[in-house]
Amino acid sequence: MNQFLLFTPGPVNVAANVRLAIAKNDICHRETEFDDLLASIEHKLLEMFEVKNKARYSAVVITGSGTAANEAILSSVVGNKKVLILSNGEFGERLHKISRIHNANTFLLEFPWGQSIDVDVVETFLKAHRIDVVVMVHHETCTGMLNPLAAIGALSKAHRALFVVDCVSSAGAETIDMESCNIAFCSSSSSKAIGSYAGLSFVVGETAEFEKLKHNPVKTTYLNLATFYAFMTARSQTPNTPGVPLFYGLDQALSNILLEGVSNRYAKIRRRAHLLRRGMVKLGLKFLIDQKDMCSVLTTVVVPPNVDVGLLRRKLRECSIIIYEGKGCFKNKVFQVGNIGELSNKDIRFFLATLDEVLQGFMPVVQEKIVAVRKAPASGAHDNSGVYAPAIAGT
Ligand SMILES: *Cc1c(COP(=O)(O)O)cnc(C)c1O
Repeated sequence: MNQFLLFTPGPVNVAANVRLAIAKNDICHRETEFDDLLASIEHKLLEMFEVKNKARYSAVVITGSGTAANEAILSSVVGNKKVLILSNGEFGERLHKISRIHNANTFLLEFPWGQSIDVDVVETFLKAHRIDVVVMVHHETCTGMLNPLAAIGALSKAHRALFVVDCVSSAGAETIDMESCNIAFCSSSSSKAIGSYAGLSFVVGETAEFEKLKHNPVKTTYLNLATFYAFMTARSQTPNTPGVPLFYGLDQALSNILLEGVSNRYAKIRRRAHLLRRGMVKLGLKFLIDQKDMCSVLTTVVVPPNVDVGLLRRKLRECSIIIYEGKGCFKNKVFQVGNIGELSNKDIRFFLATLDEVLQGFMPVVQEKIVAVRKAPASGAHDNSGVYAPAIAGT
């Protein structure tokens, strides 16, 4: 039915019942039907986050992509206090950019893209500076790295700072333990691992911290988190006109996760990632970061020498497969393959076979190396897998 298989970290191929849900019903968002819909979404979000004490947490939904939720938090939570952004990639940098607009007292601890956030460095910084809010991306999507929630959460607590996390690309695929990681607020969106359409984002946070927001200076009207919370608590409403069809889609996508079981869902995505990674390793491909540091959502692959990544992407596209090229300092150096949304194991095997075929189309320099490999004693590598391995190993 679909023209494209989206091997991206979002948007994703949605489930058939999510596609149907958005065309379900014409309702007025100021009538009780919408109150019920939003209340249902809030309830399901808290279920998905597996919070033990539901009264301790609340959720609001914003019409706008993940950045809207991030900007709502960064403009509404910090007030005149001091905020520290931890960054090791593009999305950390984006948080810094947003915070600087709204908060004069924005500090940045920057680690190279693809490297871990050094917890000791963060601790040293927190000892030397009085920081009120610590902000970090959970899954840094530009590299695929999962950042240390528990460690930074514990440090934030020890230094009496609120811990805020961008979970846009991890929620729905990885455990986010709000309680044990001391997370005050986290953001995510509808269109990544949760598996619905793009256009909605949400903030899950401690009810007590939501309550305090009304005392903060108002820095934006549309994205003021205090207003979203006030409307949510008064009558499960949103301050302005919501994208109602998308709310139906999100509600259905959350139902799908809960019906499958949250941990079953996470395990399924992890199994798919392993299938994909094993297959790409067999093709001789190398990954940007160690597998143990990777989120289960996507894999960042080093572009082999002799391969033009733009052409690779277009060739895959001709076979209905969509991947991402690297951005920023990773331009032409990596490509990214996601494994979320409605992708079956069969789709993944189709992807691997197509990738193999397309990679073999990138010839000249590789040709010579094939000769070398064929002459070498049998390495156990099967037919096509030997083609790219030596080319990469030679760099
Ligand atoms: C996708 C993403 C966002 C939000 O980007 P939008 O373009 O607003 O959807 C924010 N943070 C991370 C880590 C993401 O992966």
